[in-house]
Amino acid sequence: MAKLIILGSSNAVPDEKHENTHMALVGGERTVLIDCVNNPIVRLPQAGLEFDHLTDLILTHFHPDHVSGVPSLLMSVWLMGRQRPMSIHGLAYTLDRMEKLMEFYDWATWPHFFPVSFHRLPSVEMTPVMECDEFSIFASPVHHLVPNIGVRVEFQKTGKVLAYSCDTEPCQEVVRLAAGADVLIHETSGATIGHTSAGQAAEIARQAEVGALYLIHYPTGDHNPAKLVTEAKKNYTGPVALAQDFMTLEF
Ligand SMILES: [Zn+2]
Repeated sequence: MAKLIILGSSNAVPDEKHENTHMALVGGERTVLIDCVNNPIVRLPQAGLEFDHLTDLILTHFHPDHVSGVPSLLMSVWLMGRQRPMSIHGLAYTLDRMEKLMEFYDWATWPHFFPVSFHRLPSVEMTPVMECDEFSIFASPVHHLVPNIGVRVEFQKTGKVLAYSCDTEPCQEVVRLAAGADVLIHETSGATIGHTSAGQAAEIARQAEVGALYLIHYPTGDHNPAKLVTEAKKNYTGPVALAQDFMTLEF
């Protein structure tokens, strides 16, 4: 059965129990990492995932707390002997910068480097990203400080739907992206520019008529994230939970 593993649930400042927000979508044919932070070579085995099964990366936006792990991941799997190609998907804004970053590392000179292909997505709602035996993924632009995408995953075998807002202000693009989804994972950094509070995330969940709401990308450390659930429940009557590192959702 296809599943989503939350690899990190923190906002931009992680703590010991919460890595920066990123996740792995695992199917039979494809394993897709949605964002790539710090060094996944440590995180992926902790989640029971093998590097060679990783087929695709989706990079939502070019902020360090979402993409800082890409150079480390590419170098680590290369040193471990990877030959299998890897596809990287994202907006042109994001992938142009990622390619430049890898050029700074002179990756063209790394001997016998495995094939990496970049797939630039238009900034258009419900753009198809990929389709495989178990799921189809779509992306829509959302409202953040830099160009960013949220994703919708439709699971063929069960008919279930997952939506992930990524970093965004409350917006109708997410309402449409998440319309009727079984699960919406929505960011909850707070009501600041480019971000959303728990109450606002709940309002988006209500409008999209989703089956359940998971709050992610929340402040950790000295903050008390549990109170975010209480705040969200004021605006949305369905189940609400905090996403936690290594939580697995089956679809
Ligand atoms: Zn961001």
